[in-house]
Amino acid sequence: MDITAIMSERRGAHTVASLPLDLDLTIGQKPDEHCAVVGIIGKEQVFHNIIISLKALQHRGQESAGIATFDGSSMNLKKGMGLVGDVFQERDGMSTQPLAGSTGIGHTRYSTQGSKSLENAGPFVISSSVGYVALSHNGEITNQDRLREELKKKGSSFVTSSDTEVMLVEIAKDVAEFGMPRGIRYAMGRLNGAYAAAILINDRLFALRDPYGIRPLILGEFDGFYIIASESCAIDSLGGRVIRDVRPGELVEMTTSGPVSHFVYPARRTAHCMFEYVYFARPDSTIDGKEVFEVRKKIGEKLAEEYPVEADVVIPVPDSGRAQALGYSHRSGIPYDEGLIKNRYSQRTFIMPSQKSREAAVKIKLNPIRSVVEGKKVVLVDDSIVRGNTIKHIVSILRKAGATQIHVRIGCPPILSPCYFGVDMKTKDQFLASGKTVEEIRREIGADTLGYISIKNLTRSIEFSKDQLCIGCLNGSYPTYVQGKGYELQAALEGY
Ligand code: SF4
Repeated sequence: MDITAIMSERRGAHTVASLPLDLDLTIGQKPDEHCAVVGIIGKEQVFHNIIISLKALQHRGQESAGIATFDGSSMNLKKGMGLVGDVFQERDGMSTQPLAGSTGIGHTRYSTQGSKSLENAGPFVISSSVGYVALSHNGEITNQDRLREELKKKGSSFVTSSDTEVMLVEIAKDVAEFGMPRGIRYAMGRLNGAYAAAILINDRLFALRDPYGIRPLILGEFDGFYIIASESCAIDSLGGRVIRDVRPGELVEMTTSGPVSHFVYPARRTAHCMFEYVYFARPDSTIDGKEVFEVRKKIGEKLAEEYPVEADVVIPVPDSGRAQALGYSHRSGIPYDEGLIKNRYSQRTFIMPSQKSREAAVKIKLNPIRSVVEGKKVVLVDDSIVRGNTIKHIVSILRKAGATQIHVRIGCPPILSPCYFGVDMKTKDQFLASGKTVEEIRREIGADTLGYISIKNLTRSIEFSKDQLCIGCLNGSYPTYVQGKGYELQAALEGY
């Protein structure tokens, strides 16, 4: 079959062919992104609405953004490095170079290995015997190396090292062979890992979620348009209403009359990523029926029950620990206050691409409010500790501002194992908690006491059982196949 990358360049649009010819294709060998996807269909142009929804999802990826639209005969593609507003520059609220079409998909990406390359930016588009196929993907295909080799043997060629391209070629090939929707069902049997995707096959728009429902994907409507999005906040940003979450293992076609479910192909359990609730998702989003803000407040309440302490004030690490700190304060009765001011123009440190840039960002990011912490016993609450640079720095600046005691409470159990499902947590030595006891971590960050929420209380707060969530980075037990690893029955790490 004939599957080729789109080689034409359209007005104002960067296509696959417009990538620099000397591009280093070794960059980004591992597709370790955490991303946002969007798809919109309607009877009018969708481009500007895709931009609005991508901006609402900017927290999921800040290094590249892209949009593909189908205009009735051609697939138009524009993508670039930077924030959505940088790539799609606007004048008077309108992009200077809109892409035509009443169906389209969008993508924001966070690259994880310092790659500033456009090669792995989404969406990906190919021309195949079934027409144009475009894909925006959030997650990670864990058997991508094997699939790539098999597809190559069958004559497919690849332009990038991205797993999204492997997924796209697999889907295009299977749809050509088996038709729709059978081809996608066949592809799902071949794809392992996490995927929440918006797919365009010419003018047809599909939402696809992996059988474990690891990454979120939700459906909504607004002003006669229908939308697929990573999080409900994107639907809210357009003044729309949520229809429902895409079910684990479901293929939904979004038409101009609404969603049509083609099949549900679930695994025998779900494995929703607990880290979406803990950190990634926006607090105003609802994922799989749970409001993220409410979950985070419950986590704070459970933390107060698990690790009570006598103190004068509860302060959050802004903005990530705010809901958890509120919950801690409500349950403990210790007053809540804002003891740290965040420079709103600095980026989230965890999703910056290099250690050096993360450290520099912490230094310009937070400043204490002396009147809130001076002479006080402080409970400092954050959502999680991954690498630990931020929390160490905060403890230090609070002491310098006169806090007499600092009791750190963390709304996520120690992160000990890599993530293979689309989050930049790949090696154990990245993690502050790796190989250490809680007491050793406490000493390292300089806190008076330290308490991490237990797995039991975390899952209770999310109101899913342990068997409905992925907690692989907490206990080393993964829900699905990971190349070179066991899964499901993989032994939990000891010590916590
Ligand atoms: S390993 Fe951790 S971050 Fe990765 S999907 Fe599972 S819970 Fe989420």
